[in-house]
Amino acid sequence: MNKLSAKKEPTTDFENLVRNGIDFLEKAMSQLDSDPKHSVINFYTAVEIFLKAPLAHEHWTLVVMDRDFNRQSYESGDFLSVSFEDACTRLATALKKPLKLSAKEAFDKVRKHRNRMVHFYHDGIDGKQRDEIKLEQAQAWFELNRFIVDTWRDKFEPFLFELRNMERNLIAHNHYAQAKYASLMPKIEGLKKSGKTFQVCPNCGTEGCQFEDEGNRISTLDCLVCFFKEKRIQIECPDCQDPNQYVAAYDSFVCTKCDHEASSESEIFDLLDQNQARGTKHDLDSDTPANCDECQGYQTVCDYEGGYLCTSCFEYFDAVSQCEWCNESMTGDSAHTYVTGCEHCEGYAGHHADD
Ligand SMILES: [Zn+2]
Ligand SMILES: [Zn+2]
Ligand SMILES: [Zn+2]
Ligand SMILES: [Zn+2]
Repeated sequence: MNKLSAKKEPTTDFENLVRNGIDFLEKAMSQLDSDPKHSVINFYTAVEIFLKAPLAHEHWTLVVMDRDFNRQSYESGDFLSVSFEDACTRLATALKKPLKLSAKEAFDKVRKHRNRMVHFYHDGIDGKQRDEIKLEQAQAWFELNRFIVDTWRDKFEPFLFELRNMERNLIAHNHYAQAKYASLMPKIEGLKKSGKTFQVCPNCGTEGCQFEDEGNRISTLDCLVCFFKEKRIQIECPDCQDPNQYVAAYDSFVCTKCDHEASSESEIFDLLDQNQARGTKHDLDSDTPANCDECQGYQTVCDYEGGYLCTSCFEYFDAVSQCEWCNESMTGDSAHTYVTGCEHCEGYAGHHADD
């Protein structure tokens, strides 16, 4: 659902910034073929805006360079805005989330390119230069996208729908994904030679998606092009019995053959659980459902292929143990739990802390 269409709160500095950033991004994308020079300039402006957005979300003074903070001058636009370098520094020092090195490098390339465009006159850009610009923006876009939907997801939440649509558009136009795939070809070929398997990415459609078989019908997809990651399990549809269906971690299941759906946590649990005694009186002896110490899932772990599987994060475990204080089954190390407790209890120490 588009949260923006819901009742609006007064817009904040942050929202205004992000809205501007999206504007510049859209402009840059529409100009990529027709006017690469302005595309670079607008794209970089968008990058700067998105870098500053988490700072503005924290406090408006973090995007102001001058020491003498004046809200009135700020609102009238009469202030020196933080530079690229300073924005990076403040993300690390003030917000404790430094920009990833790969992101900084990708943004820096666009920045330098933008400076050349602005300071030296270019009359006409040939096909080769245009491809370079596409590739550069492809990489910067993927980093920017990760910055927004991964690192700062909580802040950008209201805009994710819109940004995801933009991403989809880009992929449909194939500008970015294909350019990036081409640049990654040598690396992918190298990985294939070393025995890695690649397949078509369900997200970006390139063949840059690395496939890893983890055994027990559990596999992972990890796209080098768009950073799409998925852990999934091959299952038999409980309705039409098709054996080649997949359910992905943290996702609901829909059978591609018969549309059978399982979406709640308990439905997914039942879909994967292999405990034959579940629901019978013998279930009392069962050490599942157990709690998952990987994802802190409460009673998410079922019996699976002679071991245990968290039906939330899809981590597989050979064994479970019991918390010595609350007796709940857990996947982590239960040593000392009598005193310290587990993820879901406080143990002896916590219990007696108020005495
Ligand atoms: Zn992909
Ligand atoms: Zn089915
Ligand atoms: Zn888990
Ligand atoms: Zn416990």
